[in-house]
Amino acid sequence: MKRSCSQELAPYAMPPGKSLGRIHPEPPHPYRSDYERDRDRIIHSRAFRRLENKTQVFSRRYSDHFRNRLTHTLEVAQISRTVARSLRLNQDLAEALALVHDVGHPPYGHAGEAALNQLMADYHDRFDHNLHALRVVEIFEQKYVAFPGLNLTFEVREGIIKHSRDYDAAHYPSLSAYFLDQRPPLEAQLIDLADEIAYNCADLDDGYESRLLDLSQILDQAPLFRKLYKPIERKFPDALEKLKFNEALKRLMDALVTDLIQSTRIELQRHRIDSVEKVRAWKIRLVGLSPGVAAENRQIKAFLHENLYTHTDVSAERSRMVRHVERLFTYFARHPRSLPPAYFAKTRADPVHRVVCDYIAGMTDNYLQSQYRKFFHRNG
Ligand code: MG
Repeated sequence: MKRSCSQELAPYAMPPGKSLGRIHPEPPHPYRSDYERDRDRIIHSRAFRRLENKTQVFSRRYSDHFRNRLTHTLEVAQISRTVARSLRLNQDLAEALALVHDVGHPPYGHAGEAALNQLMADYHDRFDHNLHALRVVEIFEQKYVAFPGLNLTFEVREGIIKHSRDYDAAHYPSLSAYFLDQRPPLEAQLIDLADEIAYNCADLDDGYESRLLDLSQILDQAPLFRKLYKPIERKFPDALEKLKFNEALKRLMDALVTDLIQSTRIELQRHRIDSVEKVRAWKIRLVGLSPGVAAENRQIKAFLHENLYTHTDVSAERSRMVRHVERLFTYFARHPRSLPPAYFAKTRADPVHRVVCDYIAGMTDNYLQSQYRKFFHRNG
C-alpha cells in the first residue's frame, strides 16, 4: 500500500516532520506518521462512536437511511481525502481533521448547539462546538495511562479550532498558543469546504427522499442543480425520477469538488505559495470555490435553509428537542447532585453551569431522551 511521505507532498503542504508535536512527547511509531496515529486515535475514541447517535438534520424518527453525524463525517473525510490528494496536500492530516471536525457537536444538531449557547448566555458564558471539541480531545477522552485526552499533534488541535472560523486573541486568551493571527494549514482550510459540499449534497438527497422537498422545487430554486439535471433528463427521459435525481446529485458533488480543487490550485499558483509558512502568513484563506460556483453553492444553501431546515415538520421536532435540552440543563443546574458522581465531583473545580453544559454536550440523542424520561417521566 502506498503511504504518503514528504517527497510526494507539494511544497505548500504540511510536512509531518515539521509538526509542532504533542503536549506529552511520545516516541515515533515505526510505520505510522504522527497524523496517521492521530487519525487512528480519533477513530478509536468514544466521542467518535457517539456521532452515530447524534442528529445531523433528520433524527432517527424519520428513517434509518438518512445521514447521522457519523455518516456525514465519513462523507466529509472522503471528500477531504480526494481534495488533499489532488492538491498533493498531507492526506493523513486532512483525514484526521475531517474525522474529528464534528466531535464537539451536542445532541440534536444545530438546534442543540443553539440551545446550549443560549442557556450558557444566562451565565455570561457560551457554548461553541469547536472549542468543545478541543476539550473533548484534550480532557474528556480518558483512554491512555500516560496522559489525559488523546494527546493529538498541535496541527490537529489547531485545525479543530480554526477549520471553520477565526478566533481573535483578545476574546480568546486561552487559545493564544494556536497562532490566532495566522491562517491554519491548507489541510485544515479545506475541511470547511468539504463539510459544506457534503452537507449541501446530503441534505438535498435526504430532503428529496423524505419528500419534504420535491424535484420541481429544487430545479426552480437551485440553478446549478437544474443545469446538471437537464442533460440527464434529455438523455434518459423514461428513467425513474429518483435515478435521474441521483445522477444529477452525483454530478453536483463532482462539480463542486472539481471546482474547489481547480480554483484552490489557481490561487496557490497566482500567489506563488510555496511553503506552509506562506500559507500561514497569507492574509486570507487560500482554499475556496471560484466566485461563480461559490455563488451557485450559496443559492443551494439558501434554498435548503428556506425549504428544508425551516420546514414545519423539521422545526416542530426541533422545538421539542430544544425544550428537552433546556429542561434537563435547568434541572441539573438546580440539582447538581443528580449529575453522575464523576460530573458532580467536577463542580468543586468548575462552575456548575459549565459542568452541566459539558455533560449534556457529550450526550447522544438517545441518551438525552432517556435522561429526559428519567427526570420528567414522559415522552412529550
Ligand atoms: Mg460537519
